[in-house]
Amino acid sequence: MSIKKRLLIIDAALLAFLVFVCSFLLIYVTTVSQKESLKNELLQRVLSVSEQLVDPNGNIDYSANIDYFYDNIYISVHKEDGTYITGSMPDNYIETPLSDRELTEVDGYYYYDLKLSLKSKGVRYLRGIIPNNTSLSSIVLIFLAIIVPLLTIAAIILNYFLIKRALSPINELNNEVNLITSSIDFSKEIKITSNDPDVKQLETSFNKMLIRLKNLFESEEELTSDISHELRTPLSVILGETEYALECNDEKEIIESLKVILKESNQMIRITKELLEFQRMKNHDNISKENLNISMILEEMNIINEKNIKLIKRIKPNIYLDINETLFIEMIQNLLDNASKYGKENGTTILELTDNEIIVSDDGIGIKKEDLNKIFMRFYQVDKSRTNKNSLGLGLAFVNQIAKLHNFTIEVESEFTKGSKFIIKFNK
Ligand code: ADP
Repeated sequence: MSIKKRLLIIDAALLAFLVFVCSFLLIYVTTVSQKESLKNELLQRVLSVSEQLVDPNGNIDYSANIDYFYDNIYISVHKEDGTYITGSMPDNYIETPLSDRELTEVDGYYYYDLKLSLKSKGVRYLRGIIPNNTSLSSIVLIFLAIIVPLLTIAAIILNYFLIKRALSPINELNNEVNLITSSIDFSKEIKITSNDPDVKQLETSFNKMLIRLKNLFESEEELTSDISHELRTPLSVILGETEYALECNDEKEIIESLKVILKESNQMIRITKELLEFQRMKNHDNISKENLNISMILEEMNIINEKNIKLIKRIKPNIYLDINETLFIEMIQNLLDNASKYGKENGTTILELTDNEIIVSDDGIGIKKEDLNKIFMRFYQVDKSRTNKNSLGLGLAFVNQIAKLHNFTIEVESEFTKGSKFIIKFNK
């Protein structure tokens, strides 16, 4: 059931409940006040008849001109034992013991007795009786029977339009989302005309979700194209070698082919692993960070090298930063690995830490100016023939991604054939 229908039903139910409670209260209050006025009328009438019947000296005068049935009130005079003397009583009168100044309710009538102490004739009782037939006034009846239902219906119709209007931004949002979903274009932005803060918040959340979806789709597409691009070469080598081995009769050649196939298969496993790792990191939005002493971390790092490169450390002690330790180490290690890969035989690499930056510099082959802005791209390798066979061109893309996740910026300065300098700025 739609929210609109549900709201309308809740609204109508609440309204009906309110109308019921108010009508009940109205009827109750009207009835109670009517009963009170009936009792008062009866009391007044009995007292007034007693004054007409008995003179100030205590003598009763039955000949007095008294209306024993007046204004729906019956008045009768009784002896102490209840014997009727004179007056008027309803047809369905029920005899009950007489009392003094007490109001009782008997079978749809109010009875009120008054004891008269007479001078000569002893005690007499005056009994007043009024039917207890309360009825709602015509105004109240019209109000309850016509006006209340009409007002309720009018309120429900009015609410229907109010709810429809209040929910119109949701419909707008729904249309926008449907439009984007059907076009599968996540670069679009949702724009709502309403200024309602709740709807605005919903709009912001949807747009954030769209950005996230767009990034995920793009990275998914990149991964697919990267995998197909990177696996094409080893796969064609494997195919060629397999076809050759199947047709070849020379055992030695077959073994050679199998070796090539094994090597290329291992390369494929490595490529897939690295690509998946890179993908995982790209999809990270938030990484867990701790405030750690990076001076100590850097002091423990080393250069892996076959070229006898000397690593000099100029590390300012006790520098603390919010970092993800594993990713941070991976970032620096990648830079040190490159310094070793592209450094010169017996050269020097310097690892420096100041309050605001980390610098990794080497005196290796350097990078040409035109390549400087490309080296952080995935799979970019300046000179494939000079690069290690195990290199994929993903190392600096990793470094860049990790730096971004830490809100660091990375700069590179290099002079071809002289050396390179990678600077990571903390942006504290
Ligand atoms: P890989 O080292 O796997 O090729 P990287 O992304 O780490 O990939 O580096 C991309 C390219 O940038 C490398 O192929 C290399 O040409 C160049 N490069 C990176 N670091 C250095 C460096 N310290 N000195 C010279 N060239 C470098």
